[in-house]
Parts: sequence; structure tokens; C-alpha cells
Amino acid sequence: MAEPTQTEVRQALDNGLEGLKTPRKVIVVGAGLSGLAIAHELTRRGSDVTVLEASDRPGGRAYTLRDPFADGLYAEAGAMTVTPYCHYAMHYIRELGVELEKSDLVDTDFAYFVGGRFAGTDPASLNRLGLPLNDEERRMSTDQMVDRYVQAVCRELQPEIGAPEWRVTERMAPYDLRSVHQVLRERGASDAAIDLMEPYFLEMRGGDLKSASALAWLRHEASPHSLVKADPRWSKIKGGTDQFPRAFAERLKGHIHYRRAVVRVEQDGIAARVTFTDQGRLQTMEADRVVLAVPFSVARHIDFSDARFSDAKHDAIRRLKYSSIVRVYLQMRRKFWKDANASYSTDLPVRWVRDATPHTEGPRRIVECLITGWRAKAVAAMGDEERLRFVLDQIEAPLPGAREHFETGTSVVWDKRPHAEGAYILPETGHDALMPAIRKPEGRVHFAGEHAAFEPNGGSMTFALESAVRTVVELDRATEA
Ligand SMILES: Cc1cc2nc3c(=O)[nH]c(=O)nc-3n(C[C@H](O)[C@H](O)[C@H](O)COP(=O)(O)OP(=O)(O)OC[C@H]3O[C@@H](n4cnc5c(N)ncnc54)[C@H](O)[C@@H]3O)c2cc1C
Repeated sequence: MAEPTQTEVRQALDNGLEGLKTPRKVIVVGAGLSGLAIAHELTRRGSDVTVLEASDRPGGRAYTLRDPFADGLYAEAGAMTVTPYCHYAMHYIRELGVELEKSDLVDTDFAYFVGGRFAGTDPASLNRLGLPLNDEERRMSTDQMVDRYVQAVCRELQPEIGAPEWRVTERMAPYDLRSVHQVLRERGASDAAIDLMEPYFLEMRGGDLKSASALAWLRHEASPHSLVKADPRWSKIKGGTDQFPRAFAERLKGHIHYRRAVVRVEQDGIAARVTFTDQGRLQTMEADRVVLAVPFSVARHIDFSDARFSDAKHDAIRRLKYSSIVRVYLQMRRKFWKDANASYSTDLPVRWVRDATPHTEGPRRIVECLITGWRAKAVAAMGDEERLRFVLDQIEAPLPGAREHFETGTSVVWDKRPHAEGAYILPETGHDALMPAIRKPEGRVHFAGEHAAFEPNGGSMTFALESAVRTVVELDRATEA
């Protein structure tokens, strides 16, 4: 079977996935957005589809927290932003009638809080922080640094770096062997400038700039999804991101079985079999095809010893890295800070502090701290109460009065979330060599999810959905007429 290309998959979606053949019986493992979209496309085409989901809700990392907040407030633990360029997400958002509203990331009062002082992104303000910038950087705003050190590299690598079909050319290949930090330093950026630019590369902050693949990062920065290019059309799902997977799940009633954790997958020449927990017992189910729509971080707990996978697949499952992210949410009695839509990048261990409910009508607000990489690992080691107290103490400096106005809070440690064990794929140097093995089908078993996207920097709902459409096209090619 010829594997579909990125262009073919997009064309198939734009043609309404018309005329695709589907297998008679399919088991989809995981009711995250990728698994849900596959089940949605297959059931409407007549396949007998069973979705096995380990948790008690649909959506996986599209996860909205409503507890313990008052007044109907909520916060996003996972996905929160959709851009108009999220082709696959926008397709299903429209189809399912899910509503959008303006993203909180637009029109923020962004500021640095470094060494106990606030600063804007303009050169005069940055210079007052007394950072060890080089002479040229002292005359630059952060936007100019990003343009000089990042967007200039993207421009040099055009048109390949922005091509609709992801393919690593000879000119691009060396960047996959270098880290983000290495490329920034080669371009002349000082460490102080790198620190200032880091908040603009939010996605890379789940890892370490010194181990993240420069190529995967440049692909993202060259795309319209880059945070640097945020525009007023960036949006979020009205009422919470969980409305999106729920809209799929609503159409799949009777097909999704919750609290069914898959523990074993096997296959022979005739069928594939899946073993899962069902109220403390193990059950086995057989199908023509199985789709594994779970992150590799947790696929590692599934027994594949009789799954007839290639060595390359076992290797990819073992090696794929995921970002460490901790998000802490503090409900405040009222907005006691002056900035509208406050968003501060700090040099404190809590890093990013922002108003997570800037457009809410009531007096209460949720302040969020987003902590990534090694800092996240340190905060993850704390108990839940200890973590809240730690963060509350930290934010008293940029937000005086935090302790006094705090009512309740919660946190999500993605490394420790059951059935996720990581935030999203973290492409490290050399990632390109791993990519084909991640998504390649193995006999009757297919692989979907953000990690199995064509893009090296999956990590988003739209690429999870792209992988779903790719899997549906793959199943068509694997099905006898
Ligand atoms: C902190 C954070 C911020 C993000 N921000 C954004 C953003 O702003 N915009 C954006 O577009 N994307 C964002 N994302 C990424 C986006 O949420 C994910 O890429 C996408 O939701 C992944 O979907 P998926 O189907 O690949 O996987 P998942 O959502 O992880 O779904 C996998 C499902 O499989 C289930 N499962 C796991 N193991 C088993 C098993 N053994 N048996 C049965 N079921 C199992 C899980 O419970 C889960 O429901 C963010 C993610 C995080 C964590």
C-alpha cells in the first residue's frame, strides 16, 4: 500500500472524503480528537466502529477544567487556541457547528517581569533591565530580535521550510542535527536575548532549547501558527475547548466505551485483537483493523509482543519525547491588578503568569501560571497543596495582593496525567529520522494522534485531526473493493 502524502490527505478532506472504502469492523483506541474524528468518518460510511477510551470522558488533551471554580468560570488545561490556518480543526469546527470566540492571546498587555521590575518589549524599556545584551541588541525591541535571529533564518530556508508538503531537503537537513539554542547562538544572539525571545516560542518551552530540533522549530516559526504572528482572527472554542470533542462524542453515542484501558494489541494474517480492562476484568475484541490513537508516552504501557510491529516502530514508541508542562490556576475574588488581559513573562520559577479569564463578566478571575521544561519537573515533584502555596508565594511579587485575593485553585501536571504522561510531542535533534516509523501502519494496526502528524512539530488539535484524515485515507487504500 502506498502511504498517502500530506497533499493527498488535504485534497481528500477538501473533496469531502468522497468514495472512500472503509473496513467492516474497526477498533479505535483512544477518544481524543484524532480517535473521535476517525470514528466519526468511519461510522458515517457504514463501518462497525468501537472506540475504547481509558478515561471517563472524551477529548484527551482537549480538556477544560470547571472544578473547583465558582460562577461558571473555567480554564483550559490543554488546548486553547485555534488559528484560521488550522485547516483540519476549522473543517470539523464548522461541520459540527462548534462556536468560536476571540482568543485570549490577542490584545494582551504583555510585559516582562525580570529582577523584580516590569519592562515592555521596546529597546528603552529592555535596557532599563540591565541585561547583558550585546551592543546591537541594545538597540532592538524583542520583535526585532525575533526577526533578526529567527524569521531571517526562515526566510533563507524558503520556499522549502514553508512548503505545503513537509520534506527535509539537503539544505534543511543540518538544522535537524542542531538545537534551537545552537542556531540562535550561531546567528549571534546573546543568552540574554534568547531569554527575552523564549516566551515567543511557547511551544518549545515544554522542552529545552538546547535539545529541541532547530528544524522542527523553524518549520513552526515559518508557519502562520507561530505566536509571533498572532492576529485578531486567532480564536478559542466558545464555552471551553471540551465542547469540540463533546460535539464528536454526541454523534458517536453507543460507539464509545469509557473506562476501557487497552493493555494488549496483537494481530495475525486474518485479524487484529485488542485486550482491555472492563470493570476489573480483561476482555478481548477482534476487528479487521485497529487504530491506535494514543500518545506513544502511554502506548509504552501496552503489550505489543504479539503485534508483529517492525523494530523501527518499537524503537519510535520507546524513544519519542514529550514536553513537560504544569499549569496552575488560582481563583481570585476580583481583578486586583491594573493591566487589562495581563500576561507576564517572568524570571521566576513560575515563568508565565496571565489572566486566564480576561473577558469574563463577573468579578472573579482565574490567574494562570504556565511552567515548562525542567522547571515544570521541579514543580511536578510537589504535592498539590504545596504547589498551590509555592505558586501563590511566587506571584505575590508581580501581582501584589495575590495571597489576599486567592480563594481556591488547582493544577495539572501533564507528566503525571494518567493516559497522557506528557503535554505534546517534543521533537529533539534528529527527530526527522524517527518520523516515518511513527506513522507507518503495521499490518492491520494504524497510528493516529498529534505525534503521528506529517508535521515535525505536531502538538496541536489540527495536526491530530490531520493524522485522523490520513488514517481514513490509509484505511481506504488497505480495504479491498
Ligand atoms: C498544555 C497543552 C496546551 C496545548 N495547547 C494547544 C493549543 O493552544 N492549540 C491546539 O490546537 N492544541 C494545543 N494542544 C495540543 C492538543 O491538545 C493535542 O495535540 C490534541 O488534543 C491531541 O489529540 P490526540 O487525539 O492526538 O491525543 P489525546 O488527546 O491525548 O487522546 C488520546 C486518548 O487516548 C486515551 N488513552 C490513552 N491510553 C489509552 C489506553 N491504553 N486505552 C484506551 N485509551 C487510552 C486518552 O485517555 C485520551 O483520551 C495543547 C496540549 C497541551 C497538553
